[in-house]
Amino acid sequence: MASSSALTLPNLLPSLVASARTLARPPISNFHVAAVGLGSSGRVFIGVNIEFPGLPLHHSIHAEQFLIINLLLNNEPDLLSFAVSAAPCGHCRQFLQELRNPQNIDILIADNSDKQEFTPLSHFLPHRFGPHDLLPEDSPLLLERHHNRLTLVTDASNRFCNGDVKLLDAALEGANESHAPYSECPSAVALVDCGGKTYKGCYVESAAFNPSLGPVQAALVAFVAGGGGDYDRIVGAVLVEKEGANIKQEETARLLLRSISPKCHFETFHCTSHP
Ligand SMILES: [Zn+2]
Repeated sequence: MASSSALTLPNLLPSLVASARTLARPPISNFHVAAVGLGSSGRVFIGVNIEFPGLPLHHSIHAEQFLIINLLLNNEPDLLSFAVSAAPCGHCRQFLQELRNPQNIDILIADNSDKQEFTPLSHFLPHRFGPHDLLPEDSPLLLERHHNRLTLVTDASNRFCNGDVKLLDAALEGANESHAPYSECPSAVALVDCGGKTYKGCYVESAAFNPSLGPVQAALVAFVAGGGGDYDRIVGAVLVEKEGANIKQEETARLLLRSISPKCHFETFHCTSHP
């Protein structure tokens, strides 16, 4: 697309924002946001905002969060730049701090104003609080490959959904990729739709805690990005989290799933980490 329109790849991004906005699901604000980002591999990813009527607002997914989770789910190693339909909110500026060298991410606000140019994140958030305020310098950051060394506490795979081991395996795999360096309580959710397609999403923490994104939300990023359709197509869900964890996702995950797909069968399995 870039070469056929004689654009550089970064300059293609704003032209994709308007069509990406149609994928947003904001029934509360009716404010459709889309972010279209360029990964270091040259692949282009989208993010949109998602809101959930009937639940507290902190369950919402922001477009920039969706974008980052989309990169994570596709093993993209870094985000170079993105165009977004409205100025990134403070919550998202903070969430982006989980990446390595976030100050260099170039952002273009595609809002029909005269001045549309890429500006580094350091301009939007000059005095940053980030992972290195809490973690050693060499800790793996978001999008950096790591494995949490989790295994299931019991082999409970025959209990779920007529023994749908694939779903449980996906949730465990997600938990092993989860970015939870602050609580050390990684987790993940895998969903299955009525057509048998699975969607995996892992819990991602922020150094500022509140912008953290829950495992059901991350799985819904996979669901929406994968063309999953209406939420009531989700018929099964598995959460994997640590046994005796300080940070528990189970009840919040149940609440969100019951709200969007009341007939969804939900189960939690526990895991433990090995040194
Ligand atoms: Zn935001």
